[in-house]
Amino acid sequence: MVRGIQHPTKGTDMGALWHPFSDMAAVERDGELVLARGEGAYVFDESGRRYLDATAGLWYANVGHGRTELAEAAARQMSTLAAYSNFGDNATRPTNDLAERLAGIAPVAGSRVFFTSGGSDSVETAAKLARRYWVEVGRPEKTVMVGRQKAYHGMHYAGTALAGIPGNREGYGELGPRTETVEWDSADALRAAFEEVGPDRVAAFFCEPVIGAGGVYAPPEGYLTEVRKACTEYDVLFVADEVVTGYGRIGGSWFASTRYGLEPDMVTTAKGLTSGYLPMGAVLVAPRVAEPFFREPGTWLRHGYTYSGHATAAAVALANLDIVEREGLLDEAARLEATLAAELAALADHELVAEVRAGTGAVAAVQLADATLAPRAVLALRGLGVATRAVGAGALQVSPAFVMTDEQVADLAAAFGEALDSLQ
Ligand code: PLP
Repeated sequence: MVRGIQHPTKGTDMGALWHPFSDMAAVERDGELVLARGEGAYVFDESGRRYLDATAGLWYANVGHGRTELAEAAARQMSTLAAYSNFGDNATRPTNDLAERLAGIAPVAGSRVFFTSGGSDSVETAAKLARRYWVEVGRPEKTVMVGRQKAYHGMHYAGTALAGIPGNREGYGELGPRTETVEWDSADALRAAFEEVGPDRVAAFFCEPVIGAGGVYAPPEGYLTEVRKACTEYDVLFVADEVVTGYGRIGGSWFASTRYGLEPDMVTTAKGLTSGYLPMGAVLVAPRVAEPFFREPGTWLRHGYTYSGHATAAAVALANLDIVEREGLLDEAARLEATLAAELAALADHELVAEVRAGTGAVAAVQLADATLAPRAVLALRGLGVATRAVGAGALQVSPAFVMTDEQVADLAAAFGEALDSLQ
């Protein structure tokens, strides 16, 4: 690791690119950092500078960067048949194989798999499917969706409305379906919302088992079991948004739902499905919700995407899951749970740190006492060769590739300490 903060030279020849979630006037003024290459837990910019990737991209590069095996899987499929739509009775072999594979690891046995192009698509699919389900079973008045404060459910209309990050909703006016937001950590608040809206009107409750982009918050003890129970009692569909937590991020099992003993009615996923090598998502739909659409010809879900089940993305997903299995990466994520908690713990005593949230899977956050310091902390870390970003209200995200070693985690923690010292 490079010692001492050395700010990279940033390029200013940006041209037409509009960066997502970015203050473009500031990016144009200050320049952008162009990343060129990745290898394991590291990425490299165009000048060759190396960064320890604390976040695995946007929580997706679970198997690490630069896996030629995945590039080869893509090349093989792409040069055979890159993609063919799965609309109607069309299918491709990798898509079928992947669906089988996901059904085999889904938290609920017998799940059906609906493919999407990413996490926001998965959430939108689950939201629409929840409503369609209630129509199919003769309860069309069940339309209201409930989400939690701090929650992030992607950026399509339903997900933006459902999420509990107020800034992301501002300036868009009325957003899609009626949604209610409840406290993130209270099952009683959820029950109260069901009562208030009227259980006959609530379609679904969306829940990240571990809150990610809202700042990395593990569920309070017993919370998930309680909210699952409340959904069963009130006959509300329980949707686990596992776009971040799925495919091993929570350690030890493929899904956080399995770790917490939940049986979701739907599981929304993306990211770790392909480790981000190609964009792809999937909704795992429990038999209860899928059944009305498989019962008899004539009832079908008029919903889907051009790239639902994209053959090359599916081939990459299969190869990615092979790597996770072969290299025991679910266990490696569990190892990281312990290492992150141990290595980051000391930062809690730092004057600028309010709290360290770690100890639930391969995710953690260093919460700054003063949220306005976060952008400077991110820059200082970059200057020390660590790539991270701010999430929630001034928390620094840590969600490494499962291949990050304990030594690299120690390097990362040391850099966090040094970066924070530089801000004092
Ligand atoms: N749901 C959760 C929990 C997420 O964290 C994200 C993205 O970070 C999404 C949905 C949206 O995924 P995407 O950005 O792939 O559309």
